[in-house]
Amino acid sequence: MIKKTGRVMPKGKKSNPSAKKAVANPSNNRRMSERQKKARAEERKLLRLKAQKKEMKEQARLAAEAASNERLRIDGLLENLTFADFISKNVGKKAINVIKLLDAPQTDEKIAADLGVKINEVRRILNVLDSYGVARYDTNKDSKGWLTFKWYLDGEKLTELHQTALTAKSENGRALPDNCNDFFYCGKCYEEAKVILPFDAAYETQFKCEGCGKPLRQMSKEQARALFDEKEGTETGIVTPA
Ligand SMILES: [Zn+2]
Repeated sequence: MIKKTGRVMPKGKKSNPSAKKAVANPSNNRRMSERQKKARAEERKLLRLKAQKKEMKEQARLAAEAASNERLRIDGLLENLTFADFISKNVGKKAINVIKLLDAPQTDEKIAADLGVKINEVRRILNVLDSYGVARYDTNKDSKGWLTFKWYLDGEKLTELHQTALTAKSENGRALPDNCNDFFYCGKCYEEAKVILPFDAAYETQFKCEGCGKPLRQMSKEQARALFDEKEGTETGIVTPA
């Protein structure tokens, strides 16, 4: 203890007020600067969050825009009559409508309800689309623990199939498969559907017409070729997915 005046300072009081100030100030400054640091950190955090929010919003906007463009692109593909015809004949008459609903993941029940089509028909179409790689599904458990399948479209595969259909069409007419000598057609539906099935495709349908269920009629390659040459727009019904 330093005593300059010789007076006894009351207990609890520091001897040198200016010294106290000098001591108190730096710690005060430290506290202040820590508060400031905290405030600045808080501010930075807020700015970061704000930027993240903006980024997320922008990403959502871009995703929505991309989805909308993709929908338009797919609508464009489906508007092509050759492709629509291909899908109708090889997948099913309602397949185009099913595809249009798959721009967002859907359950088969929802699709059946939306289209007013029997669920088994929807499932058959989805399975054929799946075998082409055009439709895919994710499995989820619902609230009761049941596994649900949500189906969605693979736009790239649809584009490939579109190309396949157009190529098949442009090569069509004289394009009976070389490796097949037995062909089949439905006596009742041919006039309208103009579909000739190669053996493998007919086998797949158990030699029954997919349109009316009647037994298919067999014909030779020469007869099939004659039908091809005679009827504009006749196609081979390639039922088995590529
Ligand atoms: Zn038929």
